[in-house]
Amino acid sequence: MQVRITVSFPYEAPVSQSLFDRASAVTPGGVNSPVRAFRAVGGTPRFMVSGTGPYLTDADGREYVDLVCSWGPMILGHSHPEVIAAVQDAVARGTSFGTPGAGEVELAEGIVARIEPVEQVRLVSSGTEATMSAIRLARGFTGRPKVVKFAGCYHGHVDALLAAAGSGVATFGLPDTPGVTGAQAGDTIVLPYNDIEAVRAAFAAHPGEIACVITEASPGNMGVVPPLPGFNQGLKDLCAGNGALYISDEVMTGFRVSKAGWYGIDGVRPDLMTFGKVMGGGFPAAAFGGRADVMAHLAPAGPVYQAGTLSGNPIATAAGVAQLRLLDDAAYEKVDAVSAEVRGLVTAALAKEGVAHRLQVAGNMFSVFFTDAEVTDYDAAKAQESFRFTAFFHSMLSQGVYLPPSAFESWFLSTAHDTAAVERIAAALPAAARAAAGATA
Ligand code: PLP
Repeated sequence: MQVRITVSFPYEAPVSQSLFDRASAVTPGGVNSPVRAFRAVGGTPRFMVSGTGPYLTDADGREYVDLVCSWGPMILGHSHPEVIAAVQDAVARGTSFGTPGAGEVELAEGIVARIEPVEQVRLVSSGTEATMSAIRLARGFTGRPKVVKFAGCYHGHVDALLAAAGSGVATFGLPDTPGVTGAQAGDTIVLPYNDIEAVRAAFAAHPGEIACVITEASPGNMGVVPPLPGFNQGLKDLCAGNGALYISDEVMTGFRVSKAGWYGIDGVRPDLMTFGKVMGGGFPAAAFGGRADVMAHLAPAGPVYQAGTLSGNPIATAAGVAQLRLLDDAAYEKVDAVSAEVRGLVTAALAKEGVAHRLQVAGNMFSVFFTDAEVTDYDAAKAQESFRFTAFFHSMLSQGVYLPPSAFESWFLSTAHDTAAVERIAAALPAAARAAAGATA
């Protein structure tokens, strides 16, 4: 969906523009993942050439405070010296062996040690692979076909899970994706988020047919929309009572909102969990895991097939191990504190200009909805005045603050966001709030 832009672009990015032109000639839309393309906000996507701490530098030599953090993974900031050293050490020993390696064991042990419901874990290379494999395993374990998911939750570009998905699907307002057949999506039941009665009704309507309920542990892909009190527990109880598995997708929240992710906050014990982003330290590493009796169904221990040439890659696992080792209690306290500080600044600036908004928070993740109303599901998220976000985004960008280029994404901070970075954000906010106030649909 191309939106009408109500802001001008007073700043130029000629090198990014020329890279984007070249990219558009050889790559659909000029990007390798849709939300990077700025389609929802207009303008030229910035091509970044380096990152240090809380800052990114683009191809035109402009520096930005980064509030995207690679969509979550860079929780220690960019180029953390210990992560870089671990990567350099690993790369000097070779890049891929196609055999088991010590780094995989260490990363798996690190995940199992941090997240109590994970008794066994399988490493993969992307969050999409993790959720795809988890639902295959749930179907194989239960012998049932159907999967329940929630509107606005994004679980990667898995065919069966793209129905009413968040993230780029929300950003571009795509109701369905061509290329996903009725057969692939036909066993997917899409329900409104935070509506436990709808889940109860689905179990009643499909007795013995539902393999699993998959949910973002706390959704961040329709903007941040935390579960209402008792919702996740309700899902767990309904699954347990109906012989289905409860799958908590922690690709975004895992190792980010606490040492044990969202599970560390709400304590509801999933049967299976999925991870990605932070656990790879900026490299392609992801995982799914959970109950040992369920994981035992996975090949080669059991009959459910799952594999990957680069799964457990030694560079990615080295980066992940180094990053997780650095993520102690003090690190989370730091990210939580700077997140609270930035939230306070954002809401003060918007309130001063009389802009209707709601900051919604899940641990240190948050997003700004341009609406008065509480957002508890996808329909409410879509009802916000996202044209105000467009104006706000471009004002921040022009002042050197890089926000997610969509009103339907979480903002991410890191341990590297220090006083200087926060001061730059604070300095940019008044003009951005004025731009949001003056924006028209
Ligand atoms: N699940 C959630 C909750 C996500 O946020 C994402 C990506 O944003 C995914 C799955 C897919 O992960 P990936 O992009 O690594 O395939």
